[in-house]
Amino acid sequence: MKRRDFLSTSALGLGTLALNGCYKENNSIKDKNININRGKKVTLKLATSWPAHFPIMGTGVDSFAKRCFELSGGTLEIKVYPKNILVPALQVFDTCSATQIDAFHSGVYYWKGKNSVFSIFGGMPLGLTSEEMITWLKFGGGMELWREFYAKFNLYPLVGGSTGPQMGGWFKKEINSLADLKGLKMRIPGLGGEVMKKLGVNPVLLPAGEIYTALERGTIDATEWVGPALDRMMGFDKTADYYYTGWHEPGSILEITFNKNRWEKLSAEHQAIITSATEEMTGTMIQEFRYKNAKALASMPKNVQIKTFPKEIIETAKIALNEVLAKESKLNEDFKRTLESYQNFSKLNLAWDNISTKHFLNIRG
Ligand code: CA
Repeated sequence: MKRRDFLSTSALGLGTLALNGCYKENNSIKDKNININRGKKVTLKLATSWPAHFPIMGTGVDSFAKRCFELSGGTLEIKVYPKNILVPALQVFDTCSATQIDAFHSGVYYWKGKNSVFSIFGGMPLGLTSEEMITWLKFGGGMELWREFYAKFNLYPLVGGSTGPQMGGWFKKEINSLADLKGLKMRIPGLGGEVMKKLGVNPVLLPAGEIYTALERGTIDATEWVGPALDRMMGFDKTADYYYTGWHEPGSILEITFNKNRWEKLSAEHQAIITSATEEMTGTMIQEFRYKNAKALASMPKNVQIKTFPKEIIETAKIALNEVLAKESKLNEDFKRTLESYQNFSKLNLAWDNISTKHFLNIRG
């Protein structure tokens, strides 16, 4: 701790003691060796996995940076670098881990190759919704586990938004049975893709910029993306008629993740500002997705038919998912521990949800 920082910390501690007797709290802050360098200008580099100002996700991180600047009185400047400007979209994790950037905004399930447990923090097929996921992370022990595993990569994660429930995807042909899925080529990543594979689908990964052309030319038969608002921006409604309701991404979590050393060197004030700004960003993003999806659905072109997968497919997907989870739990102790925490919360939450939110949604019509 620099001398000036130490002096301002001491001054703060004494001032607070005199005012309201919170001496112990400030003392514990000092014990943790957190620098309080109020007023010192800090500039951070944050890279994203999205194009510049990409609707909702990209504009969300722009607003986050602006809020950090405003709330800190201009002492915390976060420079946002869209994908491929400073770092390729899917190298933000490694680059931040290696301290070449300070932070990144991305999707957690992209990193399941580093540790399969990250696919749980990204959101589970047929699992928790956005609000439930955030509740598990915040109150159910999820965040502690996420931070423990990210610390091994010298990273410190915060929730950086969520998409809300995603749609099941666009299909060129109607799906009436499991047999209709066999051999279909579909762009679908993550655990959802692994489950689809067990159902006979051939899951493929394609960069965002290539999906539309692949679907139009028949190189792929189906694709999932996000929901009505972003899917229509991609033009999928112009090339596929069957739009299926979701099952694989009920509440995908995005992240604002910091290099851990860099995070620990930030002042307690800047850490608090960033934490608050990510919470604001997360709430706003979920609301924005809800509103824009509702609007895009309301003006959906007439060729598009909204469909729900037959029960046979959903029931088989549940069995396939349990097989995938059991296999990963056997292979990976981190996965096993996290899945237990997730399932404990799910069970606790379900009993309450059934007589509250689910009940209201059922009766209100
Ligand atoms: Ca998706």
